[in-house]
Amino acid sequence: MNVYAAILEPALAQRSRTRALTSGVFESAAGLLYPPHCMACGLPLEVHGNGAICGACAGKVLWVGADRCRRCGERAGAGRGSVEACPACERRPPVFVAQSCAVAQYDDPLRALILGLKFSGSLQALPLLARLLAQRVHDTQMLEGLDAKQTALVPVPMHRREFAARGFNQAEEVARLAAKHLGIRVETGLLRKLRPTRPQATLGADARRENLRDAFAADAKKAARYAQGCAILVDDVMTTGSTAGECAKALRAAGVQEVRGAFVARG
Ligand SMILES: [Zn+2]
Ligand SMILES: [Zn+2]
Repeated sequence: MNVYAAILEPALAQRSRTRALTSGVFESAAGLLYPPHCMACGLPLEVHGNGAICGACAGKVLWVGADRCRRCGERAGAGRGSVEACPACERRPPVFVAQSCAVAQYDDPLRALILGLKFSGSLQALPLLARLLAQRVHDTQMLEGLDAKQTALVPVPMHRREFAARGFNQAEEVARLAAKHLGIRVETGLLRKLRPTRPQATLGADARRENLRDAFAADAKKAARYAQGCAILVDDVMTTGSTAGECAKALRAAGVQEVRGAFVARG
C-alpha cells in the first residue's frame, strides 16, 4: 500500500479527524443525527474510516505517484520516474511556475470530494485533502533547500463577490491545514483577485487564458518577504495551468523570487 492510500486508512484518519473544524461535541451529536456517508458513492461510512470516502472508493483514487512531470505535476508514463517536462510541457512550457506537484488525477472519487467541498459547502473532506496535499509536498521534496522563513503556501484567491457567494475559499482552507502539517506559513493577503471571472471549467484553453488575463495582483510590500524565497501556490484543481500561471505572474511581478504549485488534483 502506498503512503497516500495509508492516509485513507482508519488509524491515521482518526488523527486528522481530531483537527476537523467542528468541535468534538458537535461532531458526535451531528454524527448521531446524520450518520456520515461516503461522498463518492453515498453508502454509509465505516465507523473508524477516514470520514469522507469508504474503503471501496478509496481504492479507486488514481494517485500521481513516482512517475510524474516536475514542471506541471501531471502523471508521466509508467516507469519513466520523475521527468523535467512531460510532452505537454515540452510543447508549451508553463510560464512563471517553476515546478508543481499534484496528489492524484482529477477523477472520481477524488473529484467527488472536491466538488462536495466546493459546491455543497461540505467541509467533510477538508482534513483528508489537506493531509494528502501536505504529504505530496513532502514526498516530492518541494520544500528542500528552501528557507522556511521565506517560504509560504499561497492559496489561489477568490474575488470578494465570489467569496461572498460561496462563504469560504476551498483553496485557502486546504492551504491552512496543509501549512500546519508542513510547519510553514500560509499567506492570504499577498495575492488578490481583482475581478470576478467565469468558471474555468466551462471554457476551452484559449478562453481560459483570456478569462483570467491580469485578474490577479500581489502586494509588493508583502512580496518583499519572499524576494529571496518561494511562494507555493495552492489550489484544489490544476487543469490547463492558466490560473496558476496568472497568479504566478502577479507574484513574480511583485518581487517574489520563485513560484511553485501544489495541487490536490491534476485535471
Ligand atoms: Zn464509497
Ligand atoms: Zn508537464
